[in-house]
Amino acid sequence: MTVLPNQKTIGKEIRFRGRSLQGGKNIEVACKPSRVGSGIVFLRNDLPYEAPIRVGDLVITDGPARRSTIVFNGASIQTVEHFLAALWGLEIDNIVVEVRGAELPALDGSAAGFLNVLKEAGVEEQTSARHIIKIDETLSVQDKTSSITIVPAEKFSILYRIDYDCPAIGREEFEIEPDRDSFEREIAPARTFCLKKEAEALLAAGFGQGATLENTLVMDDSGPVGTTLRFSNEPVRHKILDLIGDLYLLGMPIVGKVTAERSGHSLNAKMVRKIYEKYSEKIKAA
Ligand SMILES: [Zn+2]
Repeated sequence: MTVLPNQKTIGKEIRFRGRSLQGGKNIEVACKPSRVGSGIVFLRNDLPYEAPIRVGDLVITDGPARRSTIVFNGASIQTVEHFLAALWGLEIDNIVVEVRGAELPALDGSAAGFLNVLKEAGVEEQTSARHIIKIDETLSVQDKTSSITIVPAEKFSILYRIDYDCPAIGREEFEIEPDRDSFEREIAPARTFCLKKEAEALLAAGFGQGATLENTLVMDDSGPVGTTLRFSNEPVRHKILDLIGDLYLLGMPIVGKVTAERSGHSLNAKMVRKIYEKYSEKIKAA
């Protein structure tokens, strides 16, 4: 029988700000330590009413494309996935995140900036054991060309395959059994990307108003425009980052072997709902 590590929160309050990727607004965020068992709670503090959103209680909607949105009591916060991945990486279970706006800042488009802020606040162990979801039967979701399957395993791992109609990306595959160190080294620095041929249409449709060449890899046929890759397969690593963040919408880590083919936030959300339905008693009791 494995002994679970204890729950964790951050050591002190810390603030940061930055431009949001989709809305292009300057957003301030305050992260505060919170008591054991209280979970990950987002709070919109720009609204006239208090609107806490506790990750794991949430009603996840598909929301707008190309980002993960959490919604509760009529309040929503967009683009939470990279921040949630950083919380996952540091094994933070309990935190209050006050956001002065409807979206988190993009920082550099990866989870590295969030990880640095949270590490500066410090990570503190609390007095009760963590809650985890041990996947005990195969779960899978798919749509036309994408799929995610999770099978029972002793550890959490992700195998991810992508296939883009862009010579600079094409087929990429990466597999990792991430722990705190390897997440920080191998996954957290991987940035958001889009294809150059999609970029103008996305902007015209209102996406990525805050996108710059500093926070988004814009991939043309020969590689990223105006920057160099941090890893030769940075895109597939970013997809793993997104999936880790999206799975942490459950409010607790899962244990199982995940295989994803060409997934995106909407299929990730479908898997999160499926896990939520199957393990809802455990999630609600946490
Ligand atoms: Zn992302």
